[in-house]
Amino acid sequence: MRRQLQSASMFLRKKCRYGSRKLQFLLLLLMLGFLLLMVTTLNPPPSNQSKDGTFQPVEFNPREGYQMGFAEPQEMLDTQEESQQYYPLDGLSPFISLREDELIAAVVSPAGRRNHSKARKGYRVVKQQSRRPEAKEGDPESQLEPLPLEDGHGAAVGQQPLGLETHGFNEALSERLSLRRELPEVRHPLCLQQEYDSSLPTASVIICFHDEAWSTLLRTVHSIMDTAPKASLKDIILVDDLSQQGPLKSALSEYISKLDGVKLIRSNKRLGVIRGRMLGAARATGDVLVFMDSHCECQKGWLEPLLARLSSNRNSVVSPVIDVIDWKTFQYYHSVGLHRGVFDWKLDFHWEPVPEREEKVRQSPISPIRSPVVAGAVVAMDRHHFQNTGAYDSDMTMWGAENLELSIRTWLCGGSVEIIPCSRVGHVYRSHVPRAFSYDEAIVRNKIRIAETWLGSFKDNFYKHDTVAFLISKAEKPDCSERLQLQKRLGCRNFQWFLSNVYPELSQTEDMPRFSGKLYNTGVGFCADYRPGRATADGSIELSPCSDSPSQHFEYNSMKEIRFGSAPLLCFDVSHGKVVPHNCTKETDNSQQHWDVQENGLIIHVLSGKCIEAVKSEDEEDLFLCVCNKNANQLWQFERSHGVRQR
Ligand code: UDP
Ligand code: MN
Repeated sequence: MRRQLQSASMFLRKKCRYGSRKLQFLLLLLMLGFLLLMVTTLNPPPSNQSKDGTFQPVEFNPREGYQMGFAEPQEMLDTQEESQQYYPLDGLSPFISLREDELIAAVVSPAGRRNHSKARKGYRVVKQQSRRPEAKEGDPESQLEPLPLEDGHGAAVGQQPLGLETHGFNEALSERLSLRRELPEVRHPLCLQQEYDSSLPTASVIICFHDEAWSTLLRTVHSIMDTAPKASLKDIILVDDLSQQGPLKSALSEYISKLDGVKLIRSNKRLGVIRGRMLGAARATGDVLVFMDSHCECQKGWLEPLLARLSSNRNSVVSPVIDVIDWKTFQYYHSVGLHRGVFDWKLDFHWEPVPEREEKVRQSPISPIRSPVVAGAVVAMDRHHFQNTGAYDSDMTMWGAENLELSIRTWLCGGSVEIIPCSRVGHVYRSHVPRAFSYDEAIVRNKIRIAETWLGSFKDNFYKHDTVAFLISKAEKPDCSERLQLQKRLGCRNFQWFLSNVYPELSQTEDMPRFSGKLYNTGVGFCADYRPGRATADGSIELSPCSDSPSQHFEYNSMKEIRFGSAPLLCFDVSHGKVVPHNCTKETDNSQQHWDVQENGLIIHVLSGKCIEAVKSEDEEDLFLCVCNKNANQLWQFERSHGVRQR
């Protein structure tokens, strides 16, 4: 369209040189040109159709309309060639449902509106996944390896990220990045030698979104189309969960209508991600369902290993390794070590390094990793298996903890849950939960449903750790009868079996926290922040402005340890009078790592009797041991208190 316009104006300019003899003709042309311009301004093209009909992606700026982006004409040509290579997805039946805007979801809305209090995330990333916005490429403190961005795009580091309020990531920067960017190879070399059967199952990728940024949503879609083998990708189903943002309305419909094999379903009720995904699943026809968040980017070869595993293990729920796309710089970080998904008694999700016990049973570095739970961002399973074993719990609302329910149920009812190392997908972990996405009580209610359905008598452990959940469960007894019937029908095992066979670490109750979350210093007004080093021993604890970053999550337990996250790995220790993170020792006398967190805000080192004080050293605030004097820099507050309930 733009090209047509350009040539029209060139034509006009040439014509002007011929002078007055053709004045009438010129006027006519001018009027035509003006009309054409009017039409274009009123109805900006969301995409570009080239002469041969192939699709040309263009970038959209919600504030400034459609832009040419930064592409030079030559790059446009390259993209065109690539487009021919990738689109349309031959062999896929064309969708007739591209105009499903009017679709009305047939999912019943449950309990309805809740009062949402302040945001709390249902899951965190522990330690290795720390993604410090200020960490530069090659920063020895980073345990994640950053991968280069396209030229010039790193420039936004240090600027005030735009769109942060709405999305929890740097939307302004994302808009400037290509919708189709190539990610460098990060897979284990053995992955590249894998060969996959030509008869792999097919996949439907379901992306449920609510007011997602245009750029991240479409980058997700293009990334899937550019990486999934044509023969394996049955369809991509976008489920619009009642988005309000303008560009996600007709402009999105139009854009999507040009993409082969991409379907858009719109709900006229806010379903939340759980029921939104179920709606998408009901429309899917692929052998395998892949649920994906709307701000992901897939590595080459991500789909095949998932499909291969599912074709031999139909009862499995599998997940790729989920890498980090930095919310501020959009750099792609891949974690160096392998992790598994776990949870604590608050039913909050965490990552932790694969324990030795599990490493021993794995035959190769690319063998599947048995994982107690998977994250919510990307997960795949056999479609029939999903539908026959209870899909998601449709009485869960909005967002959160559905990944735990799916995983625990899968383990208990005869399946397994695994992370497949050769499959890697990047996910934008938000810097914070945007206000529109705060569903505190919805998550708590979802967790209550897990406890009441799957934890058996262990549900009391959950209630002990989550007082709000305890109070809500007393006030409004949840009805889990359908899920309990399902459990019976499927002949599922009980939670004791899960604790003994899948996740014994959870039953080590002495690790339970008494205080957790951010550790705030009254004097400085900042929070303790874990900075990873190249080796575990090289990390440090400093003070930074408080944020929801996983690097600011600490736990104080009944063994008087202050741990980083819930991974049983790093404890507050002391070296040369400075507080440092160190491997938690299991020796009988580890009083070096013992702390008294007092009511009055002091944190006293048991061995020395000194207090943790925030002290400025060079241009950083560090934590030092000083003689206790109760000055404001010695006063600390944990974000959450869990009461004293340990033995
Ligand atoms: N989402 C949705 N409806 C909601 C909440 C979330 O469709 O009510 C989508 C959201 O757009 C995203 C996915 O569900 O694609 C997961 O949500 P989010 O990314 O906020 O979760 P996080 O990854 O931050 O845990
Ligand atoms: Mn997400």
